[in-house]
Amino acid sequence: MSTSEEPGGYDDALHAAVAGAKRWLARLEDRDALAPERGALEHGHLPEEGVGDAAALEELWSLAEDRAAASPGPRFFHYVVGGATPAALGADWVSSALDQVASSASGSPLAVDLERVTTDWVAELVGLGEGSERFTGVLTSGATAANLVGLGAARQWWGERHGVDVGEQGLAGLPGPTVLASGRVHASVEKALAVLGLGRRCVERCSSANDGALDLDAFRSACASLDGTPAIVVATAGCADAGAFDPLDAMAEACEAHGHWLHVDGAFGLFAGALPSERRLVVGVERARSVATDAHKWLNVPYDAGIAYVRERSFAAKTFRQRAAYLPPAREGARRLVPANLVPESSRRARALPLYAALRAWGARGYRAHFERCFALARDLARRVESAPDLELVGRPESVVVPFRCAPRGFRKRDLDALNQAVAAQVEAEGRVAVGTTRFRSVVCFRPAFVGGRTREQHVAELVEAVEQALARAIADGTATG
Ligand SMILES: *Cc1c(COP(=O)(O)O)cnc(C)c1O
Repeated sequence: MSTSEEPGGYDDALHAAVAGAKRWLARLEDRDALAPERGALEHGHLPEEGVGDAAALEELWSLAEDRAAASPGPRFFHYVVGGATPAALGADWVSSALDQVASSASGSPLAVDLERVTTDWVAELVGLGEGSERFTGVLTSGATAANLVGLGAARQWWGERHGVDVGEQGLAGLPGPTVLASGRVHASVEKALAVLGLGRRCVERCSSANDGALDLDAFRSACASLDGTPAIVVATAGCADAGAFDPLDAMAEACEAHGHWLHVDGAFGLFAGALPSERRLVVGVERARSVATDAHKWLNVPYDAGIAYVRERSFAAKTFRQRAAYLPPAREGARRLVPANLVPESSRRARALPLYAALRAWGARGYRAHFERCFALARDLARRVESAPDLELVGRPESVVVPFRCAPRGFRKRDLDALNQAVAAQVEAEGRVAVGTTRFRSVVCFRPAFVGGRTREQHVAELVEAVEQALARAIADGTATG
């Protein structure tokens, strides 16, 4: 048994980690998407005696085999889950082995340089302009934190327009801000606004449609009525419920005309910009002043990894910087920023390494093929739904999220929500596929997302089959009545 008195010797732990991972990954294609429901894990006190490295890892793997969801597998359509490419997974382990403090170049020149390289590459891939000439990218834990960075920069700008340096003086004395958005704005934007002290309620939704679509006329007049009063506009590029896009170009136009800040939440949708055939969905994003996206969704880099892009870095820096005698100055040489001054965390892992390896392994062409395949799978599902007598699309899918529901003949419209909830519970209990429900266009529906690199047509067929079987069972059990 190894103890703290016997340092070194990583072989046992690494061997157990790799052996377990190989077992897990070898079965990933066949696994049910969800682990059987086990109830919350019971635990006693931390045992006085350690079990040693190998035994600790083996115990962990046996817990994982029993309780982990196969979310990186091909049947996990819930949320917007990407999984990890082989290169990204390997590099994530490298990142842990190197254990860098990726806060500044004095902690890790490697991590800081690769953070610039990878965020520039992603900007180029999606058409955000030639990397850091336009936008500075920083890595975050996800799009929620990237929204916090973008909106933190926006808050600083908004305060300065009122003559207040919010980073130094806080919000006291300032009026409530206005944040304009469509009805598709993500919950994490509200969270970020709450954290920033602006409050969730400052969001004004310019939308009356039940699909959350922007009412462009209402939005334009709201922007115009705030001419001279700085406002923050949040546009959604790919909403979580339905993969739908706000009209970014028109929103950018109004923001420029009336002097408002445009922040784009493109957690997964931003990557539509990499495909010439889908680029129209995100035209205008390059006019934003801040942009949030995720690497752990459509790029298939392991959790957790997001990217915040800011046009004028100084606004983000005034919100997130920290100064102390032992810390580096704001800049370390001409090309090396201190990323920790632009994000909520101070200490942070080298998230750029898995992103770097993933981008190098597939290249731009490999990623475009992956994005194309995801679009094709979404279209495939839409076709299957349209030709299934008991299923229907809930609106036309715009990208890689496909809202649909069960609507068998003989059911009253008002009973369909309960029916779909019963079907969803049945699908979840079966666990073969994972697909959550949402409320979109005022109805309960499924909202599978296609961003994972392992999903193929056969898994789309399995999804439809799982829903149809669960529907048959729900009807037979009388869980739902026609
Ligand atoms: C997933 C998502 C987020 C939040 O991203 P996290 O990576 O979970 O923090 C924000 N906005 C949209 C549109 C999303 O789809």
